[in-house]
Amino acid sequence: MSKEQYGLRCGIGYDTHRLVEGRKLVLGGIEIPSPLGLLGHSDGDVLTHAIADALLGASGLGDIGHYFPDSDPQWKDTSSLKFLDTIRHLLAETGLSILNVDSVVVLDQPRLAPYIPQIKESLAAALAVELGQVNVKAKTSEGLFPSSSPMAAAHAVALLVAN
Ligand code: MG
Repeated sequence: MSKEQYGLRCGIGYDTHRLVEGRKLVLGGIEIPSPLGLLGHSDGDVLTHAIADALLGASGLGDIGHYFPDSDPQWKDTSSLKFLDTIRHLLAETGLSILNVDSVVVLDQPRLAPYIPQIKESLAAALAVELGQVNVKAKTSEGLFPSSSPMAAAHAVALLVAN
């Protein structure tokens, strides 16, 4: 794949997970103090999953379920940062580099602002990019996520360039 053939490639990722008791709340690989955590086969890191899908989408390599199916015991309760490490190597093999990743986490509680710098550092390290190439924003659902069935969502976009 050459820059002339493919140039810039963008991808989008989206994910949701339920918040339940007895699970850790992990976002971007950072554990955040919370009475509720994200339910999932892996650590349920909704932000990392959205970013993984944005990167796979941009590269045309498929989606997260193809590489890390929830039927595979090796991903049970694993850190989703491992997914980013695998995807980083897939991108390198495909001749693509990350220009930037932007993302939004939608979560009502807890407020994420104090943790954003740490989350960005964690994601940049997992992707082996500079801190300035990764952005994470936090929003609440403005009451649209039911308190009786709490959840978190994340959206991400990625821009890749052919080497
Ligand atoms: Mg997920």
